[in-house]
Amino acid sequence: MSSVQSVIQTQNLSKNYGNFQALKSLNLDVPANSIVGFLGPNGAGKSTTIKLLLGLTKPTAGSGTIFGMDIVKENQDIRRRVGYLAQNPNFYEHMTARQIMDFTARFFFRGPDNLIRERIDETLRLVGLDDKADRPVRGFSGGERQRLGIAQAQVNYPDLLILDEPAAALDPQGRRDVLEVMDKLRKHSTIFFSTHILDDVQRVSDRVIILNHGELIAQGSVEELLSASLGLNYRMVLKGDASRTQKHLQSFAWVQDVMIGHQNGKTAMTIVVKDEELAERSLLREVLSDENLIVLEFSRNKQNLEEVFLSLVEGES
Ligand code: ADP
Repeated sequence: MSSVQSVIQTQNLSKNYGNFQALKSLNLDVPANSIVGFLGPNGAGKSTTIKLLLGLTKPTAGSGTIFGMDIVKENQDIRRRVGYLAQNPNFYEHMTARQIMDFTARFFFRGPDNLIRERIDETLRLVGLDDKADRPVRGFSGGERQRLGIAQAQVNYPDLLILDEPAAALDPQGRRDVLEVMDKLRKHSTIFFSTHILDDVQRVSDRVIILNHGELIAQGSVEELLSASLGLNYRMVLKGDASRTQKHLQSFAWVQDVMIGHQNGKTAMTIVVKDEELAERSLLREVLSDENLIVLEFSRNKQNLEEVFLSLVEGES
């Protein structure tokens, strides 16, 4: 297959449950070989997005691709290359970790028994459960269960791992262990995981996507988005498609990053700049050079993204 740089892309992906809009016009772009934290408070629409990506539910509007394949029409082909850990995975409690892995591996593998056994050993080692392989899952801690779930999700060498809140319900030790396993897996797969905990994102992610009330707030690299020195940034609220202007602005040396989100049908653009004087002189002029864009608001951004995260997550989790 030709190299596809984006693993996940969505265009105006939307989902309604009755009259309720759980996901509003989501435009995602997840590059290959990254760990992406999909951050948002409970009810933001993270699980809904994951279900749409996996073809477990159908979009109300919009579309998406994984490895360039359509999430609705080519769902079966996508699933062959994706590993998935559901929120709160269930196991047969009387079975041992090895028996559970054997069950999963045989479902996916067609090779000889010794290869299956090798793969199971390798996988249990990878998630740090080799010493507990022959104990019933009944006695496993929350963190051990999640690691077993991750082991199952990646037994078939998936190119993309989708993990729904893998660390959220765990104590600090369990969370640390799960995040460590994710970190180890980064060299094998692109990992897309949802969380409502900012700290999880900071610990392991390369990139972050923030969702709130079904809307994209921001996506970009963690350093850029979380940097305390994000400091100098401007915010615009626009009407119209800003993607061309985003690219245009990114070509200037005085621009560090341009992030786009959507709010109530409008586009919110955050422009992080390196040179205030040049930004003051040129920024608005450059944006207005696209005649299709209407600027509704223009301000220096007072909040950095860490503060935005915290105000989103506080009181809702
Ligand atoms: P998150 O994973 O970020 O916690 P969800 O995607 O689970 O958020 O939910 C987003 C919103 O959609 C919530 O308000 C939730 O109550 C609602 N929702 C999710 N699934 C359904 C469903 N099957 N029917 C009706 N509403 C739903």
